[in-house]
Amino acid sequence: MDKRRIEQYKNRLLEKQEELRHLVVKSEQDGREADEAATQDIADKAANSYAKEFLFHQSDDQRRILQLVEEALHRIAKGDFGSCVACEKGVQKKRLEAVPWARHCIGCQEKQEQGLL
Ligand SMILES: [Zn+2]
Repeated sequence: MDKRRIEQYKNRLLEKQEELRHLVVKSEQDGREADEAATQDIADKAANSYAKEFLFHQSDDQRRILQLVEEALHRIAKGDFGSCVACEKGVQKKRLEAVPWARHCIGCQEKQEQGLL
């Protein structure tokens, strides 16, 4: 992969990393505020725990993607960005365009989703 393209992916990854860091911090704050707003009313309590559950899963996803973004930046630094971590073939360009932090090529991703990898 040529340097200019790697540089473009790197910038996109750095932006995403920044965005996710903010979101993770915000979700944690919202979770704490939901805690502080707990009331006596049972319906409110149910709504509150539902909101907390939602925020928890949301920040979980954000954290997971943040981890993948950081791994991708690490691969750029090591010079093996764009290769599938399983079969080491190049990850398809279209796939990297859509998901620059993708770890697997399409074939390996499908295998992983089926639990074969
Ligand atoms: Zn692969």
